[in-house]
Amino acid sequence: VSGRAERLIALLPEAGVDAVLVTNIVNVRYLTGFTGSSALAVLGPGTRAFVTDFRYVERAADEVDPSYERRRARTDLIESIAEVLPIDPLRLGFEEGVVTVREHARLREVLPDRVELVAAGALVEQLRAVKEPEELEAIRAAASLADAALEQLLGQGLGGRTERELARTLDSLMLDLGAESPSFETIVAAGPHGALPHATPRDVEVRRGDMVVIDWGARLGGYCSDCTRTVSVGDPDPLAREVYELVLRAQLAALDAVRAGASTREVDATARGVIEAAGHAEHFGHGVGHGVGLDVHEAPRVSPRSDQPLQAGNVVTIEPGVYLPGELGVRIEDLVSVREDGCEILTSIPKQLTATD
Ligand code: ZN
Ligand code: ZN
Repeated sequence: VSGRAERLIALLPEAGVDAVLVTNIVNVRYLTGFTGSSALAVLGPGTRAFVTDFRYVERAADEVDPSYERRRARTDLIESIAEVLPIDPLRLGFEEGVVTVREHARLREVLPDRVELVAAGALVEQLRAVKEPEELEAIRAAASLADAALEQLLGQGLGGRTERELARTLDSLMLDLGAESPSFETIVAAGPHGALPHATPRDVEVRRGDMVVIDWGARLGGYCSDCTRTVSVGDPDPLAREVYELVLRAQLAALDAVRAGASTREVDATARGVIEAAGHAEHFGHGVGHGVGLDVHEAPRVSPRSDQPLQAGNVVTIEPGVYLPGELGVRIEDLVSVREDGCEILTSIPKQLTATD
């Protein structure tokens, strides 16, 4: 975590605040190293405070970076903030996507009048979007663990097993290989069910001729992976083959567009253009990708509604899909790390359409 507090504090003047209150627990972890579920941090030029409750005092002593002054909250965390703030008038930033209306009211109630509360965007998320080498290493390890689990699952054959059983088996394969957990709820969706981008696995058997969308990831060392493969059980029919080749072309084109400086909107448009040109514009409703790190969905978004330059060190997914209601869905997703001259693909599972058992 070393260097992260300094980088955050350097962003404060531009955000128009003297100090920032960090209450998102993942952001607290990123800054301090604390892995428990209840804590907050206050950071400013002369302030680096960490507050947790009695349950986590020992864990905090082990984990929290020694540069933080550690406090145990007497009652609730928010009430303790006043104790760690400097005594001068203060513009205190809060994480505007995190603090609820109720928490804001409570803050106003417990903080003295000299403290002005200011919405301060998503500063820590901005830092988290650019991975340090060790973070990249952790994500790479999570991705290769997840790959190994899928290879084992595919080796067992999919036909005749239910979506739910396949998803649960994939989860336990990841756990057996050392994952802390799946990084999100595993998707296994066969045939027409694959046309739902966020399908929940059903107690329905996978049959020969089904295209099966498998979207899965592992969490390792706190970091997530995220990948999707669509496989054909038995020989794919001509429509399945056509849609698959289209999605693959879109995915390869977008991967090719990824490099530092490329706009997120342009990368999205690259994949979208391929799919639109084939007449399937209305069958691709989601953004082409998202950042991945301590959270499986984080900055930067790669979608028509986001427009920012990719930076070296971003880790994003590239996952176009075509979803034909009542027929089938195909999504192909890789996890990549952005480099100055292109990207490194962190997924190793092949992408040519293969018929599995
Ligand atoms: Zn995914
Ligand atoms: Zn994803």
